[in-house]
Amino acid sequence: MPLVIKKKWVIKMPELPEVETIKNELLPHIVGHRITSITLFWDGIVRQPSAEEFCSRLIGQEITAVARRGKYLIFSLTSSEVLIIHLKMTGSLLLKSALAEPDKFVRAVIHLDKDTNIFFRDPRKLGVMWLVEDKNAIVGKLGPEPLEAEFTPQVLAQRLNNRMAPIKALLCDQGFIAGIGNMYADEALFAAGIHPLRSGKSLSQDEVKRLHQAIQQVLWSAINNKGASVDTYLRPGGELGTAHFQFQVAHYLSGKFCPVCGTSIQRIPIRNRGSYFCPHCQPNR
Ligand SMILES: [Zn+2]
Repeated sequence: MPLVIKKKWVIKMPELPEVETIKNELLPHIVGHRITSITLFWDGIVRQPSAEEFCSRLIGQEITAVARRGKYLIFSLTSSEVLIIHLKMTGSLLLKSALAEPDKFVRAVIHLDKDTNIFFRDPRKLGVMWLVEDKNAIVGKLGPEPLEAEFTPQVLAQRLNNRMAPIKALLCDQGFIAGIGNMYADEALFAAGIHPLRSGKSLSQDEVKRLHQAIQQVLWSAINNKGASVDTYLRPGGELGTAHFQFQVAHYLSGKFCPVCGTSIQRIPIRNRGSYFCPHCQPNR
């Protein structure tokens, strides 16, 4: 009997490097352009205000900047309002010519004053759009940005102080640190040699330093490789990212081997999500 490894259907949602790539690649095509109309194929994608008001307030506005905060995309507009988009599990923003036909998974189209439309495609219908006066109403409670200069090893150490939760759960907590999810938390912990179940407060000064460096290194590497297309993630032009080719543990299923020491990669559930790690390189001490 051949060995059959059952793959559990786990969707890898876009994390910081994927959203950063989307921002970078949308920017040159949309900044300075005006929204001429909006087509909503599914009103539920608009969280705030009503779908009708959302469309009427957006039409005619120019997109003046695009930024990322955590896993959110923030579009500044000529009015003082901001359009905020979260792609959740399966959302993508695709740049299409004005002649392109949306498929059945496109929930909204933002038409711009040139031969370009933005398709918000989302098979699982979990993605969300908000139009708000103050972006902090949506993103105000996020933790620090891991790639900004203010995020130092000292800041990480302070935030870990007295935290009993497993370090893996803390890294995925958007209020603890913004933008990291399951994939990059596993990769950062592997790179730092830290077991995912270690409590936040148990990390030594040296381990905090290693973890800080590992977080920045795995995120920058993934941004340089345009994000990880292990699942449904696409870049705005429809291309795949290649960051997953750099992964050491996160894309492994149980039964694969550690690229450093050859030990079987283990999978344990932490807060209902699979965590992949090497029990030899990441001992639970
Ligand atoms: Zn190992």
